[in-house]
Amino acid sequence: MFSAARTVFARRAFATNAVAVEGFTGAVGNTPLIYLKHLSEKTGSSIFGKAEFQNPGGSVKDRAALGVVRDAEDQGLLKAGGTVVEGTAGNTGIGLAHVCRARGYKCVIFMPNSQSQEKIDLLRMLGAEVHAVPAVAYENPANYNHLARDHAKRLSNAIWTNQFDNTANAYAHYISTGPEIWEQTRGDLDAFICATGTGGTLAGVGKYLREKSQGKTQVWLADPPGSVLTSYITSGGKLTERSGSSITEGIGQGRITDNLATFVKELSGAFTVPDEKSIKMVYELLDTEGLYLGASSALNVVAAVELAVKLGKGSKVVTVLCDGAYRYQSRLFSKKWLESKGLEGAIPEHLKKYAVL
Ligand code: PMP
Repeated sequence: MFSAARTVFARRAFATNAVAVEGFTGAVGNTPLIYLKHLSEKTGSSIFGKAEFQNPGGSVKDRAALGVVRDAEDQGLLKAGGTVVEGTAGNTGIGLAHVCRARGYKCVIFMPNSQSQEKIDLLRMLGAEVHAVPAVAYENPANYNHLARDHAKRLSNAIWTNQFDNTANAYAHYISTGPEIWEQTRGDLDAFICATGTGGTLAGVGKYLREKSQGKTQVWLADPPGSVLTSYITSGGKLTERSGSSITEGIGQGRITDNLATFVKELSGAFTVPDEKSIKMVYELLDTEGLYLGASSALNVVAAVELAVKLGKGSKVVTVLCDGAYRYQSRLFSKKWLESKGLEGAIPEHLKKYAVL
């Protein structure tokens, strides 16, 4: 039907999975590892991004969502027709809303109202009950996480999945993301680096890679402004007050979550990436690599490039491409919004054409 040349092209151009998978949950994971060609050539190192935006719910958090639901089912905590309640910046909620639809559970989400409208809209379209609440500190009883916990207590046949301190989250990455990266790099990688929200990705992937490489692969943390983790790690364990903020969503922390606590001692180091660099990288990734990614992915890539430079030419560094820009485009590609954040100057002239909203 097709010419031989065309068939060869198709085989080279498209990855195929050998077998069909079952439903939404079967499609979570097994994401490609992308060699970031332009950035690698620029630095003389090999920089790879794990394409977590290709999960069926569109983000790295599909793995955690599936992990915490499966764990609750296995423990008999979540029964047929039950309700899953969670506090989330959005992506875990989106993953949970998909998993709940696929498995017949109700889904109730509490999130800070500082998050993008796209995520709130998507959650509602996926059938979740969404409570967008004022963004207040964790210490405040009105914090979205505590509200989720209290709400679950009031319902019957309901669980609070507690992604921050439920280590089923990190475990999901330990048994899937970590092994996939190890296989995709054939164990030949110098370092893994990413930012954390719950710490599930960093701790789960990090633990697996440290074990498999017998301590050879370094694991680093990247942080947005307003997070306390970099200073905690570089000061040897001093926790400071949270101050400042970032345009990135879903990352940065004011405390050591249980997920992160399992791994924090294994980290080789940490550094903070300013918003100017992250937003510039959102545009650069689009322009040079053809990748349309959110600001946390961009921050991760900036950090991976800086780490590769630090480790020297020829080094191999892996990071995470957490989600697509689709869920932030009314912000990241709006001239007005960039101006309101004082970030229009961070976009080089030749990339300004992408800010079309
Ligand atoms: N990037 C984005 C866009 C996220 O929503 C999250 C999770 N909130 C992360 C990164 C961090 O993932 P983790 O919770 O595994 O640390």
